[in-house]
Amino acid sequence: MIGKATISDVAPRDGLQSIGPFVPTETKIALVRALYDAGVRRMEIGSFVSPRAVPQMADTGEVLRAALALDGLESTVLVPNRKGYELAAASGAHRLGLFMSVTESHNRSNLNRTREESFDDLTDIVRDATAAGLKLRFNLSCCFHCPFEGVVPDSETLDWVERVIALDPTMEIALADTTGNASPDQVRRLFEIVHRSWGLRFAFHGHDTYAMGVANTAAAWEAGVRIFDSAAGGLGGCPFAPGATGNVATEDVVWMFRRMGVETGIDWNRLLAAADLAAQVPGGTPGGRLRGVPAVRRAA
Ligand code: ZN
Repeated sequence: MIGKATISDVAPRDGLQSIGPFVPTETKIALVRALYDAGVRRMEIGSFVSPRAVPQMADTGEVLRAALALDGLESTVLVPNRKGYELAAASGAHRLGLFMSVTESHNRSNLNRTREESFDDLTDIVRDATAAGLKLRFNLSCCFHCPFEGVVPDSETLDWVERVIALDPTMEIALADTTGNASPDQVRRLFEIVHRSWGLRFAFHGHDTYAMGVANTAAAWEAGVRIFDSAAGGLGGCPFAPGATGNVATEDVVWMFRRMGVETGIDWNRLLAAADLAAQVPGGTPGGRLRGVPAVRRAA
């Protein structure tokens, strides 16, 4: 083995969030359990967002309780604002996921406020969470490409990374390819720069809209990233990133790492079962390639 990659499966949150029909709580819990059975030990379980804004996440507390019963699983919940922070801090979640966009127009469209307003709120939340001893993940959306502004200049992303780093020198930070339109050379270049400047503490969150999710994940790995977001069955999308389809599929990423000799701790056959489950969620738009390759059904 040439190293170890940590996969954080985001299907329960990023994967399900934009599905119209409400996915029954039992289905969400079954997906979490299937991923756990496959060896996934990190997941984005849900979001303490207003149920009026995102009805699909209304049962996050219940799904989280089921996840917290699984030994050794690190559960992350997203925190969109102060109210969500209070709920998340009291929920027992292991890690709180904060987020804002690198670009002004996506931040306004997605969060309905300016980047400075988001950053001010998140600054307070980081301070309080750190004082309370809570683990954090700071997600920066649209680090590579924005649905409204196009390709994002490196300097724009690096300026925000620098400001986020200043909030907490140890916090995990994800550079997200929200639209899936990053290119591998861009992903590699940006991660090389941030690693040189601030060390190995970055995660990559990739989407597969332009079929570059796996290539971008490989580029991030080669630049030194060891924490990756992906979604079983390639579920996902962003209602505020027009045309953005699923997260890069966990099964596609795990297959690549298997072939490269990188350890993930994930059982291939059980992962396929979890991916099939994710792909069958009513109302979802599954993605990924590996579920459709007959030979991988006999692979392990
Ligand atoms: Zn995403």
